[in-house]
Amino acid sequence: MRQATREQLLFGFNGRAVMPLRRRHHPRRSRAPRNTLVAREPDPRQGHLPLVQKIDEAARLRLQRRIGAHLRGDLRVVVTDNRYSIISVKRGKGYFEARLHHMFVDAEPGIVRALARFIARNEAEASALINAYIDKHQDKIRHSLPAGPRKIKLTPQGQFFDLEEIFDCLNQRYFGGHIEASITWGRRRTGPARRHGSVKMGSYSVEDQLIRIHISLDRSFVPRFFVEAVVFHEMLHQVHEIPVVNGRHHFHTPAFRAHERTFEWAEAAERWEKENLNRLLYF
Ligand SMILES: [Zn+2]
Repeated sequence: MRQATREQLLFGFNGRAVMPLRRRHHPRRSRAPRNTLVAREPDPRQGHLPLVQKIDEAARLRLQRRIGAHLRGDLRVVVTDNRYSIISVKRGKGYFEARLHHMFVDAEPGIVRALARFIARNEAEASALINAYIDKHQDKIRHSLPAGPRKIKLTPQGQFFDLEEIFDCLNQRYFGGHIEASITWGRRRTGPARRHGSVKMGSYSVEDQLIRIHISLDRSFVPRFFVEAVVFHEMLHQVHEIPVVNGRHHFHTPAFRAHERTFEWAEAAERWEKENLNRLLYF
């Protein structure tokens, strides 16, 4: 069972299951912390495609001023039409950046105050109000194409490994088939191979529910258990919470690491990575 942390609100639509916050991440480099409310896409069968209006600058400024009136510190509001990330907050020293879905542009004063409290300190009561508001206005959220959230070309079939097959095996074996994600190889490199300083072996994008695996792993010398370990790691990001400690997101909590070690070949994969890093970095 997933548990919502203070920094992590779960928003669901149509009473369907909710999906927790996940940012893009990868094993070696992580991005700036952002607090994101993630919405599952609305049911495409419901209603017709609403016209997305271009949000004018005056409306953005007005919303920024209205929320800012209840906040201590500088606030920048960006109005979006992102149907996965309804609200995303970045907090700095005396500075906030909030990316808000355009449904909030005409929000009533009570919601504006709730937004301010949510932006300032992720207040639980405020987020409940916002949740209700989002539910009420879900018709404003862009409907998705039946083919998927975004047109991303997936190339799961590599030269040496079929990622879909690996994903399905792991999903059945370790997750009871509950992980919902697409998987693809990353872009193939052109030009001569060279040694890189690092390699981002895998990533998981919450916006697209997409796992990307680095093309460097699609080579004959890479054992299947290693590719599996990287895919398994990325799948875990759909399961685990991302707590915030001292303003920093912790993608790989002790619980995450413990779970990671339940993969049958975890130790072998770790050892293999150490012994073959040089070859992996050369692509
Ligand atoms: Zn990770």
